[in-house]
Amino acid sequence: MSSQQTCTHLDQVQIDEVPARTEVPGCEECLQMGGRWVHLRVCRTCGKVGCCDSSPNRHATKHFHKTKHPIMEGYDPQEKWGWCYVDEVLFDLSDNFTPQKGPIPRYV
Ligand SMILES: [Zn+2]
Ligand SMILES: [Zn+2]
Ligand SMILES: [Zn+2]
Repeated sequence: MSSQQTCTHLDQVQIDEVPARTEVPGCEECLQMGGRWVHLRVCRTCGKVGCCDSSPNRHATKHFHKTKHPIMEGYDPQEKWGWCYVDEVLFDLSDNFTPQKGPIPRYV
């Protein structure tokens, strides 16, 4: 593990603040287009909820490519980790993971 990189973006994310857009009950784009998802991710920069890479539309990754927001979190289920797309580093968020506002419908 000594060659493992560290993430240099942690100071850019709202680690202590609940992102604003998590009241959307699922992936915004999938809901608009009637798509389905497997798991959800939340962007720790702007709070956008998107679907994971196991989902057909991979909106969380597309959000990164579009916005360059580097860090997302496992949101549904609440996996309590963050992932930096730039550094490709996984890190622990069990002390400040994003709470869900309510139950999120599952579309698997
Ligand atoms: Zn990083
Ligand atoms: Zn989606
Ligand atoms: Zn974002």
